[in-house]
Amino acid sequence: MIKVNNVTKIYGSGETACKALDNVSLNIGSSDIAAIIGPSGSGKSTLINVMSTLDLPTDGEILFDSEKISSMKEAKKSDFRLKNFGFVFQDFYLMSTLNAKENIILPMNYKSKVYDNALFEELVNKCGIGNKLLNYPHELSGGEQQRVAICRALLMKPKVIFADEPTGNLDSYNSKIVFDLLISYAKSNNSCLVYVTHEEKYASLADYKIEVLDGKCTNISNDTGGENA
Ligand code: ADP
Repeated sequence: MIKVNNVTKIYGSGETACKALDNVSLNIGSSDIAAIIGPSGSGKSTLINVMSTLDLPTDGEILFDSEKISSMKEAKKSDFRLKNFGFVFQDFYLMSTLNAKENIILPMNYKSKVYDNALFEELVNKCGIGNKLLNYPHELSGGEQQRVAICRALLMKPKVIFADEPTGNLDSYNSKIVFDLLISYAKSNNSCLVYVTHEEKYASLADYKIEVLDGKCTNISNDTGGENA
């Protein structure tokens, strides 16, 4: 479903140029669960940002079901993302002036869509924040804020969820909850989940790992399942 074709990403130019991705090609299937791993500075965030169209490749292309999404015009790309992709980041990016419920339904307002109330109820209950909906972000713990961000992403019924170190700011108790939620959503909806993590115990939950080293990628099969992309 997602094809990364010969993608190179260079930040800056001249002496300060940094090649963050070096001719990377990957295939990610529509219901794959893939963990991006690798040392700090190896290119993991760059890969997930370029793959999800948040950033542009310097060279190469990204295809989604054979549509070239990397070269779409900004407005079309943004619409495409809203319709197909869900994002969860290390920093939760909640609007501080909106309560939890308003944050969750915020992307629906951009699409002027009525949201699926049954799904909303299901998500907030699964995420254990049904009693926090009127609270503002500063009144929520980090784990609760991330669960609000997850509800916000999943209410849009994304075909692909991109999560960059979603538990980077969380303790191990909340980290487990977050991965359980993301993986169970992906499995029960046959959705694709691509996440960056530096924790082996969470990387091993994926079908396979994409190891990034100096901007180059290798697929590593996880013992417990899945095929290499
Ligand atoms: P990781 O997520 O694995 O820690 P990144 O993808 O953030 O790695 O970074 C890969 C390389 O690209 C690093 O050397 C980093 O310093 C560099 N880099 C990332 N973002 C930028 C940027 N906006 N400008 C210049 N260099 C950058």
